[in-house]
Amino acid sequence: MTYDVAVAGSGLAGLQCARLLASRGLRVLLFDRKPSLVQSIHTTGIFVRKTWEDFPLPDEQLGRAIRDVVLYSPARRALRLAADHDEFRIGRMNWIYLYLLDQCARAGVTWMPSAKLVACDGDTLTIEHNRKTETIRARFVIGADGARSTVARAANLDRNREMLVGLEDIVPPIDARPALHCFLDPRLAPGYIAWVANDGEEAHVGVAGYRDRFDPAAALDAFRESLPFAIGKPIERRGGLIPVGGILQKIANERALLVGDAAGAVSPLTAGGLDAAMRLSSFAADVVAAYLEHGDRRILRQYNGERFRARFFTRTWMRRAIRALAHPLAMELVCAMLRTQPLRALDAHVYFTRGGSFPDAKLELATV
Ligand SMILES: Cc1cc2nc3c(=O)[nH]c(=O)nc-3n(C[C@H](O)[C@H](O)[C@H](O)COP(=O)(O)OP(=O)(O)OC[C@H]3O[C@@H](n4cnc5c(N)ncnc54)[C@H](O)[C@@H]3O)c2cc1C
Repeated sequence: MTYDVAVAGSGLAGLQCARLLASRGLRVLLFDRKPSLVQSIHTTGIFVRKTWEDFPLPDEQLGRAIRDVVLYSPARRALRLAADHDEFRIGRMNWIYLYLLDQCARAGVTWMPSAKLVACDGDTLTIEHNRKTETIRARFVIGADGARSTVARAANLDRNREMLVGLEDIVPPIDARPALHCFLDPRLAPGYIAWVANDGEEAHVGVAGYRDRFDPAAALDAFRESLPFAIGKPIERRGGLIPVGGILQKIANERALLVGDAAGAVSPLTAGGLDAAMRLSSFAADVVAAYLEHGDRRILRQYNGERFRARFFTRTWMRRAIRALAHPLAMELVCAMLRTQPLRALDAHVYFTRGGSFPDAKLELATV
């Protein structure tokens, strides 16, 4: 059988895309190299408000809302920001993935675990499935296969170059008060932050930075040791790559298209990609469904990174500035500036603005 669409990768982006395409009556195959979606989860799972407002995520699998953010300098001077609204919620990602997979099954998606894409050529995909090499035929391929996308390479689309590596432990809650603690310290998290995300039910303690500048496991140990509050025994360890070079330009052609991390759809500043995974995948589903129906290449031209890049100009620039701040003293100075009254508004803007999510896009069929 030839599928209409084969979706490689069953993270948030692949699940969202597969479900939407199948609900339009297309024959969709969703596959992943992992035997189970709850295995090797790599994300902290912090959702911003706009995502849970706009998408039907299971409310009971989102932790208590967080309004308070505390920014710490390398010398641990604190800047406290409080939002007027609920701003963040930590998803119980194993349950969220299973919920979305169930939604996919209800929409008619065929699901194939333990299936690793090794090549795709024309309409033929080669996969390693349960240690055997198999071929699958599909009219169109969606690369939802993460930061190091095999689809991007095989289909000659753009690929992520700039990446952070993140590592975290999930531990029992540090206290009952939900808060997001962010530590700007180039010794522990060169180029990004270390964090304690506590929602009163569980806490995530993590570090992220440029791979060539630190040892994540050693930095996480040092970070835990340095914290002013007691941290319980780890329940689970998570980690992975975060593409932070901004959305890629060439993310579609007549054979394949990229979504989520594969497309570099991650905020270059906050390194958040969950909202982008949902939002860009929804647009991708519109584009692919219309392309398969009309066969007109002009539809695919609307799916390009350029239309989103302008929105991230300031954030990309701020990422470069953070990358350059390699010395703790320089970061201490910047933190002192952030604590001044005029810049507090900017801090709050970065953390709390609804515009911080990925831009929505609409398919224009009238121009085709
Ligand atoms: C440590 C860490 C913490 C993070 N915390 C947050 C956060 O709190 N909030 C936030 O918004 N963002 C966060 N992010 C970013 C966010 O997790 C990602 O942007 C998002 O999960 C991307 O979803 P995705 O579906 O595109 O990719 P993924 O979730 O990476 O899914 C890709 C899937 O493809 C599969 N795959 C890969 N290669 C193949 C292949 N060859 N064949 C078949 N399957 C394949 C993988 O097994 C995987 O299941 C974090 C990232 C990291 C690393």
